[in-house]
Amino acid sequence: MLTVSKLSASYGAIQAVRGVDLEVKARSLCVLLGSNGAGKSTTLRSIAGLHRPVSGSVNLAGQEISRLSLHRVVRSGLAFVPEGRMVVAPLTVEENLALSGFAGRNADPRLVDKIYALFPRLAERRKQKAGLMSGGEQQMLAIGRALMTKPQMLVLDEPSMGLAPAIVDLVFQAIVALHKEGQSILLVEQNAAIALSVCDYGYVMRRGQIVVQGTPEELRQNPEVLEAYLS
Ligand code: ATP
Repeated sequence: MLTVSKLSASYGAIQAVRGVDLEVKARSLCVLLGSNGAGKSTTLRSIAGLHRPVSGSVNLAGQEISRLSLHRVVRSGLAFVPEGRMVVAPLTVEENLALSGFAGRNADPRLVDKIYALFPRLAERRKQKAGLMSGGEQQMLAIGRALMTKPQMLVLDEPSMGLAPAIVDLVFQAIVALHKEGQSILLVEQNAAIALSVCDYGYVMRRGQIVVQGTPEELRQNPEVLEAYLS
């Protein structure tokens, strides 16, 4: 479904991503782990069309998307939920969702009901301005907004960032529910224990490169993963 080959990305002289290969199979939930500064966000931003890679390819369902403009990437079926959420603060929950529906491929107002079922809190707060909601609610809205584009591939950057444990659970319950429905997902997550409990396959990045990969069982037994992320 999503195949990233030899992806390299830089900020001026800083080589943040160096020859990354990764694959997310259709209907699978794949996680990208790594410490701060390893290059995870830059990898996702390059996949999502927010950062122009130096070299390499990003193929989504047979289409090369790494050189497309941002709206074309969305239309190709990839939705990105950035770190920090980036909801439109002065707009309400329902306005945020409607806005995203226009940007997507087959805007479908019935999707809103599905999103409210996934996140009942958003339904309760549908008339509330996004900027006045808690961090967790904004994260739910950011995911809902991405789903409004009916993505073939949902890409999430650290959805648990800064959230209380109970809210992290709610967000991950929703991610698991989406995965069970068959949504293909690529996730960057600092919390390796949670990430490995929900994913089908994982990659570990260090200094811009993939250094370990495997099933969650394999990763849990990997000495490097154990020491760096699960101790
Ligand atoms: P974190 O978990 O802290 O977000 P990360 O694994 O997502 O880390 P990146 O944010 O991709 O890592 O950063 C990779 C490298 O690129 C780091 O050395 C970082 O300092 C550098 N970097 C990231 N963004 C920029 C930028 N806008 N300008 C210059 N350097 C940057």
